[in-house]
Amino acid sequence: TIVGVPRESAAGERRVALVPKVVERLQAKGLDIVVEPGAGAGALIPDDSYVRAGARLGDPWPADVVVKVAKPSRMEIGRLKSGAVLIGFLAPLIDAEGVRALADAGVTGFAMEAVPRISRAQSMDALSSQANVSGYRAAMLAAEHLTRFFPMLTTAAGTVPPAKVLVLGAGVAGLQALATARRLGAHTTGYDVRPEVAEQVRSVGSQWLDLGIEAAGAGGYARALTDAERAEQQRQLEQAIGGFDAVITTALVPGRTAPTLVTAEAVKGMRPGSVVVDLAGESGGNCELTEPGAVTVVHDVTIAAPLNLPATMPEHASELYARNVQALLELLVDADGALAMDFGDEVVAGACVTREEP
Ligand code: NAD
Repeated sequence: TIVGVPRESAAGERRVALVPKVVERLQAKGLDIVVEPGAGAGALIPDDSYVRAGARLGDPWPADVVVKVAKPSRMEIGRLKSGAVLIGFLAPLIDAEGVRALADAGVTGFAMEAVPRISRAQSMDALSSQANVSGYRAAMLAAEHLTRFFPMLTTAAGTVPPAKVLVLGAGVAGLQALATARRLGAHTTGYDVRPEVAEQVRSVGSQWLDLGIEAAGAGGYARALTDAERAEQQRQLEQAIGGFDAVITTALVPGRTAPTLVTAEAVKGMRPGSVVVDLAGESGGNCELTEPGAVTVVHDVTIAAPLNLPATMPEHASELYARNVQALLELLVDADGALAMDFGDEVVAGACVTREEP
């Protein structure tokens, strides 16, 4: 089976779907890897390294399996052969038309975001591996924009209290943001609508903010709040947020626009020099004043809504992602490296968003 690794074409995307270490392992399993020249450039991986790992350089698009990070453009879909397998973040809940285009092209698509979040599939969980990068980077950004220290300092020139950091939405990204902010010395508090998260927040040394609203949904995700719950949540958060130097928001509900947790009123109540880092910008943002992709300052509060943070740490983000792709690929091939997709397998069936009928 030939596996193609294209150079990512989306603006600002610096990750690559496979790294040389993983190429080596896949070659050993009988797969033949073709890497587009420059595919690793954004992640600072030279073509040579791929060749030394056993890959060929060439056109990746006619391959049997094409592995990507970002969803393919229409032009890229046009270059896939009919019957090909495509693996990547295909945004199935957001980009229905893109998924239809794959189906029309006769492509069998596996979306990394659709891999079921069960123990057996943890090694393929790219949402988690990339959310860890985002959470880490979010805490760093909050520290960078804040006009105050994160850690407590006791110096001859005086004592500085630790910054208070609140993380709203304590899934994978939120927990990593909490852990990172705490390592930088901040006093950290986490909040979520899934009650089981309280213990996880405490386990990273953070306090748990309890607003008495529970909204656990299917598959370990949150459900959307009712209007009444949302109003109550915003009211309570408006009171709480003024006590924090930095608020990092990560709240998402699959397939929906992000919930508004930080209202304009709440921002008004923050001390000058405080920071909001909104990781939900891609889905509209958790802060009412968020401008996705921009850093804005409102009443002397900085609101940063960075897009695609994993691409800002392309080396490790690619390494982790490549291992997720490797694990999924290994599930799709037999011992000789030939495609053998078992659609009776919960993980294979769950991740599959389009399927070419044999
Ligand atoms: P996510 O990115 O979809 O959402 C981030 C967080 O926002 C979630 O914790 C969610 O509960 C929270 N949220 C949504 N609406 C909210 C609101 N109105 N107010 C406050 N918080 C809100 O979630 P995620 O980080 O991808 O993962 C969520 C969960 O999935 C994990 O914590 C875990 O339970 C489960 N998971 C399981 C596995 C596995 O078993 N392999 C792997 C990863 C995650």
